[in-house]
Amino acid sequence: MTLTLPSLQRSHHLPAMRIVTIVGARPQFIKAAPVSAELRRVHEEVLVHTGQHFDPGMSDVFFDELGIPAPDHHLGISGGSHGAMVGRMLERIEQVLIDTTPDLVLVYGDTNSTLAGALAAAKLRVRLAHVEAGLRSFDRGMPEEINRVLTDHASHLLFCPGLNAVENLAAEGITKGVHDVGDVMLDALRAAVALGSRRSAVLERNGLREKGYVLATIHRQENTDDRVRLAAILDGLAAVDERVALPLHPRTQAAIARHGLRVSERIQVLDPLGHVDMVSLEAAARVIVTDSGGVQKEAYWLGVPCVTLRDATEWVETVTHGWNRLVGPDAMAIAHAVATAQRPARHPALYGEPGASARIAALVDS
Ligand code: UDP
Repeated sequence: MTLTLPSLQRSHHLPAMRIVTIVGARPQFIKAAPVSAELRRVHEEVLVHTGQHFDPGMSDVFFDELGIPAPDHHLGISGGSHGAMVGRMLERIEQVLIDTTPDLVLVYGDTNSTLAGALAAAKLRVRLAHVEAGLRSFDRGMPEEINRVLTDHASHLLFCPGLNAVENLAAEGITKGVHDVGDVMLDALRAAVALGSRRSAVLERNGLREKGYVLATIHRQENTDDRVRLAAILDGLAAVDERVALPLHPRTQAAIARHGLRVSERIQVLDPLGHVDMVSLEAAARVIVTDSGGVQKEAYWLGVPCVTLRDATEWVETVTHGWNRLVGPDAMAIAHAVATAQRPARHPALYGEPGASARIAALVDS
């Protein structure tokens, strides 16, 4: 008779850890793509999509083109007030964690999905890891800032995209479990550039020429909720004396309708783009105008001057090195900043080397 030792044999083949990853919004799909690929080499990953961004152009396209595995749980939660959304997510994520008994919960960035995942893990005393920890705009009026601060203070592992983020955490008394791994967005960007050079025809499709246009994005709540602010931004883009392409976020589209505003015919409105097409458009733009966190950094990596439609930025180094200019909601100031935007001579590697995703995967069991 042969003796079998099922548990020992099984454990030999078992993945090292079971990790529940929570995503829900566009930038999180983009960041999770390279990290998920690295994690799954060694660990078991259970992917939860909260549903915060749900339409195909804001969600499915990223799963399809970036090769992200289909979510194991799709919670279908979007809309409503911030509190209601976080509350509903918290209840459902908690149940997933009870059912799957993970060793670690992994959350990204600064959205309501991030905070709900963090709270669910904290309440069940499951270890929590935060990718993009330590970023601060120092503006507690931004919903994203509250989400980041609370998530960082509940996390056991804090994966920072750079030294500045490490210092921000230290200033709040957080030094344990902090790792400067570099920026996962750089891995995502490199993958999109490689795919785009093979297959993106987005310029031809939209009649755009290399360096012959300005690319604009607007979606931050501080810019869309306030009618006066949004009107000034749209007027500023209309006053730019160059072709302007504007892939329109659904939130912004809804706000324009709600406020009874109109987008000038001078602006070329596009549907939201997949990441591969978006990066191709960014790389070929003469200037980028944005209120997005991720797009500011991508502009820097791609060597494209940026005008940021906000009063503060987490990416202060892009401003101090002359690649990025902050402009408030003033139409003439926006048009002037775009007209005068130039590439500075120096382009240092501000946000580390590629490979953050692999470094995170190597550290999750630390
Ligand atoms: N992005 C995209 N398609 C678009 C607009 C943006 O793929 O139509 C990408 C962009 O390249 C960047 C990310 O979305 O990688 C930024 O996300 P978003 O601006 O929604 O959020 P934030 O970075 O401000 O959190």
